[in-house]
Amino acid sequence: MAASHNFTPFPHFATNAIHEGQEPEQWKSMAVVPPISTSTTFKQFAPAEHTGFEYSRSGNPTRKCLETCIASLEGGKHALCYASGLAATLNVVHLLKQGDHVISMDDVYGGTNRYFRTCAAPMGIDISFVDCTNIEHVEKALKPNTKMVWIETPTNPTLKLVDIVAVSKLVHSKTDAFVVVDNTFMSSYFQRPLELGADMVMHSITKYMNGHSDVVMGALAVKDDKLAERLRYLQNAIGAVPSPFDCYLVNRGLKTLALRMKQHMISGMAVARFLEKSPKVVKVVHPGLESHPQHELAKQQMRGFSGMLTFYIKGGKQEASTFLKTLKIFTLAESLGGYESLCELPSVQTHASVPDDQREKLGISDSLIRLSVGLEDIDDLIADIDQALNAAVP
Ligand SMILES: *Cc1c(COP(=O)(O)O)cnc(C)c1O
Repeated sequence: MAASHNFTPFPHFATNAIHEGQEPEQWKSMAVVPPISTSTTFKQFAPAEHTGFEYSRSGNPTRKCLETCIASLEGGKHALCYASGLAATLNVVHLLKQGDHVISMDDVYGGTNRYFRTCAAPMGIDISFVDCTNIEHVEKALKPNTKMVWIETPTNPTLKLVDIVAVSKLVHSKTDAFVVVDNTFMSSYFQRPLELGADMVMHSITKYMNGHSDVVMGALAVKDDKLAERLRYLQNAIGAVPSPFDCYLVNRGLKTLALRMKQHMISGMAVARFLEKSPKVVKVVHPGLESHPQHELAKQQMRGFSGMLTFYIKGGKQEASTFLKTLKIFTLAESLGGYESLCELPSVQTHASVPDDQREKLGISDSLIRLSVGLEDIDDLIADIDQALNAAVP
């Protein structure tokens, strides 16, 4: 095994995941576990004189515990939670106005691509999809009206990396645009974009952060007070907030984030190495493998690897389909980052909404299989993959 087990975690990560925002003193009962505060409204001492909570869309005690915890895990000062990852993205785009230009990494989550192209663009936002793995492409794409640069690293599903430090430096030196990083694939445990110069971190909390595949939620984290103030305004004005029940569940999920991510990394690496040795596999893509073209960058900007990997199976759609249907422990389903192992075919599932020509250019072919390696026993996972490969490829 390579140096992948020698990464140092961010200091105090597990402690903060368990204690930040959870102080029992904030409740009259001194509850150690933050209660689910379902009340939509809060009594005021006198008109407009209150405890900080007025109406549950603008602020909720359970949500506040969660937001405080996420801010600390991202090394940020503020965090805001939303009804989904895409709702978080929607709020970010509301920082812009008609005529503003956006550079988006070309290989982004299918739903982000769809939102930018079919929802934001018709409202007058000018969007360029750019291969940001090459900083020169980013520089060339900058326009006088560029106001936002959106990157995802590692990308979904081809696991390309974008140099967060280099992009942030370039963008900040040439424009007043802000840089957003979709950190969903790494979780706060393995990557902190705010410490690398980005202005904002976006999460689909639905994935690793919650980790139990039972909540759809999004979050943003920032350091800047002004930016946070504007986002707080939009969070209330737009109204795509999560329920207190869901905030409770995610807050609970975060308590084991450090433990879960460590195991996702170990199991993901083991599966990647097994696949790399198989004659039934054309190519494995995992940033922790020495064969990954950006392995060095991975070691620089990440503190480890999640359980996400993709590979090209020998053959085409038929072989991929047989493999996916034959797996017994891996469940054929979209999404990722939960305790259970999942598998899917991005070309017809998560990335079906990306136009054909763009998909081809990105390498999302019918033989590209995506795995989210979960927390089952590694030996069982590898045996499962082995029998499915044997059934799919002669
Ligand atoms: C799932 C996902 C999203 C969208 O989040 P939702 O919670 O499904 O709205 C955005 N980015 C990435 C990388 C994702 O995996």
